[in-house]
Amino acid sequence: MVSAVSPVVGVLALQGDVAEQLRALTRCGARAVPVRRPAELDEVDGVVLPGGESTTIAKLAATFELMEPLRKRVADGAAVYGSCAGMIMLADRILDGVPGQETIGGIDMTVRRNAFGRQVDSFEERIHIAGIAGEPFHAVFIRAPWVESVGESVEVLGSVEAGPAAGRIVAVRQGHLLATSFHPELTGDARVHALFVEMVKERS
Ligand code: GLN
Repeated sequence: MVSAVSPVVGVLALQGDVAEQLRALTRCGARAVPVRRPAELDEVDGVVLPGGESTTIAKLAATFELMEPLRKRVADGAAVYGSCAGMIMLADRILDGVPGQETIGGIDMTVRRNAFGRQVDSFEERIHIAGIAGEPFHAVFIRAPWVESVGESVEVLGSVEAGPAAGRIVAVRQGHLLATSFHPELTGDARVHALFVEMVKERS
């Protein structure tokens, strides 16, 4: 593994908003690289699972023989951050998935896919995130999941604060695993990525 000063963070680059993730991580002082093969996964200190379409990402991860290696990195304690579809990939249990939809798992939570419904397909809201100082975070949701329920070891970092979905959990952490329903890589606010890069440093 590489130096704790500039950790290497791999972005799972099968589908989704990979370039934006690479940019956000670079801004936070990480060396950010795309990961498409098991051997590339071995070279990184931490992993980001980007937003996109979780059914497609899961299928491609199986095809590229990345599912088990990803589960192993999670089990071995590597820091992993999942955004939107990536949050779905980190969930131990999902609702409204397609039949047989697999996840990597790791976070003891039940996540509902496309939970906000059609009318509110995409929306933006300010959300207070535990562990992130300053202004509430400008959260961008795109056909986002929410966290339906969490186990005892999961820390809820943020929930929707207004409107019909008020109270729904949208940011969680379980030890070395971090997940958000929203897309911080799209806003130019690097505070969630900075938090994650710190988690990677602690682990590497
Ligand atoms: N709806 C997508 C899914 O089920 C997630 C959307 C996103 O990542 N922006 O995977």
